[in-house]
Amino acid sequence: MFCRTCGKELNDKAVACVGCGMDPREGTEHCPTCGAPTKERQVICTACGSSLLGKAGKEWSLWPYIGLLVLSFFVPIFGWIFGGIHVRGAAADSKRKSQAWHFVIASFVGLFFNFVLMGLG
Ligand SMILES: [Zn+2]
Ligand SMILES: [Zn+2]
Repeated sequence: MFCRTCGKELNDKAVACVGCGMDPREGTEHCPTCGAPTKERQVICTACGSSLLGKAGKEWSLWPYIGLLVLSFFVPIFGWIFGGIHVRGAAADSKRKSQAWHFVIASFVGLFFNFVLMGLG
């Protein structure tokens, strides 16, 4: 790995940089994978594409995908619940009722895409 502060190449288990004395995993000036210069708020290295967030590296980058998967699974269910409430509440108003049905149909479409995505995965 490379020191994140000064960019010196170090052993992967190094706890301090021999070049600058800092924790090599702290700092924001260099990519830990390839040593390329990075900016403070950069999320990935533009030279090698590796994640610059946290010390966990690859494990961290899985969480947004898991979150999206869970969200896409539960949102259609919420769609049915809220759509159902709308249909019942708007029984007297035909325009609101049709909007509520659109909501329910959109939720079914969302679930269909879930099955497609699960099939591909
Ligand atoms: Zn250093
Ligand atoms: Zn890099």
